[in-house]
Amino acid sequence: MKKPVVNGLSIDVEEWFHVLDVPGSPQPVSWGSLPRTVERNTHKILDILEDSQVHATFFVLGWVADRHANLVREISRRGHEVACHGDRHRLVFQQGRSGFEQDLRRAHDLLQDLAQMPVIGYRAPGFSIGPRAPWAFEVIREVGFRYDSSLFPARRMHGGAPKARQEPHELPLENGLSLVEFPSSVVRVGPLRVPFAGGGYLRLLPYEFIRWGLLRMNARGIPGCVYLHPREIDPAHPRLRMSPLRYFQSYVGLRTAERKLRQLVTDFRFGRLADVLIERKLLDAPGVALRGA
Ligand SMILES: [Zn+2]
Repeated sequence: MKKPVVNGLSIDVEEWFHVLDVPGSPQPVSWGSLPRTVERNTHKILDILEDSQVHATFFVLGWVADRHANLVREISRRGHEVACHGDRHRLVFQQGRSGFEQDLRRAHDLLQDLAQMPVIGYRAPGFSIGPRAPWAFEVIREVGFRYDSSLFPARRMHGGAPKARQEPHELPLENGLSLVEFPSSVVRVGPLRVPFAGGGYLRLLPYEFIRWGLLRMNARGIPGCVYLHPREIDPAHPRLRMSPLRYFQSYVGLRTAERKLRQLVTDFRFGRLADVLIERKLLDAPGVALRGA
């Protein structure tokens, strides 16, 4: 019998106010005085995963790691992969090459110190890597990451990458090095590529559609990449003021996300993104040995 495909499960560890493109949202200088929910909600996710004996990849924001060092240690201690979501949650193409490198290096080194494991995975805020930041992949590799999970192979705000491959693959770089890409999941419906496995899509879509999408990918031997944020399993988290459309996108289906996560980890096999890439021979194990691997 064929082995079931192991999918990647990922959590972008950031606060409720780290929502991009909301005019009037709190500026970084005031972030420190706002109520925080990330620690409590990440613990809730850690407990759900422990109940299901699933390990995942946690893309932690440097700003969060600065304030919740023990949370990063706990993620690592429980056998999950600590990866990086940048430092200040800024869109990649707005930072320029050297600003991006600084942001990335700071977060990478901080997380690696706290996690006591190699930090080899990166995901950009808002999946903001594409034609407007053609240098981004080289910087990511030069800072020390081995894989990226920022390509969103469909149209979205900030462009997405509608022509990108849907399965994990190697990205050759102009500097002669290479980086491995683990894209977010989309499923083809007629001529469309429909995202279904994370964030607002996971909250909005019925579980049956999500399950169908993942089954279709897995039937083709492609691992899915599911992502969510700690705030998404907390329907009572504080909310930002925004336009009616953004409000809908940001807060629809909050009451369903925890149930969908529990159901997904029951119905499918999941693991840390690095392990999925190692199993598929896109990364070698020795250089990236993770705790508990
Ligand atoms: Zn984010």
